[in-house]
Amino acid sequence: MKLVVVLSALLLLSLVAVSSAEEFDFFYLVQQWPGSFCDTKKGCCFPDTGKPATDFGIHGLWPNYAKCKTRGELDGALEMVTKRKKKCWPENCNSERLKLWEIKDLVTELDANWPTLACKGGKSIEFWTHEWEKHGTCSNLDQHGYFATALGFKARHNLTGILADAGIVPSDSETYFLSSIRDAIKQGTGFTANLECNRGVAGETQLFQVYQCIDRAGENLIDCPLPMQGNCKDRVQLPAF
Ligand code: AMP
Repeated sequence: MKLVVVLSALLLLSLVAVSSAEEFDFFYLVQQWPGSFCDTKKGCCFPDTGKPATDFGIHGLWPNYAKCKTRGELDGALEMVTKRKKKCWPENCNSERLKLWEIKDLVTELDANWPTLACKGGKSIEFWTHEWEKHGTCSNLDQHGYFATALGFKARHNLTGILADAGIVPSDSETYFLSSIRDAIKQGTGFTANLECNRGVAGETQLFQVYQCIDRAGENLIDCPLPMQGNCKDRVQLPAF
């Protein structure tokens, strides 16, 4: 009898574990060009660890749906937290807080590769906390796994180097064909990425963020399944930083 009760409890627990796995289709690894983040009317501030390298910085690792869900397709809890008609990614999936000790062996690497540029006191951990709470809690990864996965992909595919190999280097005067950036990333990583642009202080179009796509296990790059209206033009700048 006892055995039956224990087995039933175990079955129930495993069902809860399975049903609490977040349903999403792929990840975006979003990396940001710091020169473009800073060269806007909002400007930027350096973190308390000093000026970041002239390199892409991680913005986040974002679970995403391949097809946006309408309100009817969302469960009740999600419907209550979203006012938008469609939801294209899950966010804030639970209330688990980021614990620094969980990622303490990654902090040096995170400081170098995932720096805050917001003018909010210079603590990069506040940026990591925001990304963990909004996106990481939906990733089916634990805290260490979430940050280590993002760092691992960034290290494997050095976007700044890939662009430099194609002659695309930071400059406040040069413009580059968007297609040449797209082709360089495809050639350098083996997969298509999505590109997002912003406008500089003088209104110029600049490459802002690169969205690489990763399978839902967080293991392999894939071709990005969704096109993106990234606010780019045929020619874009990669501003100095
Ligand atoms: P998300 O909520 O993940 O879509 O990210 C958007 C938020 O991240 C906005 O509040 C941005 O201001 C902030 N953000 C984007 N890039 C940076 C950065 N490099 N440093 C600090 N905050 C950032």
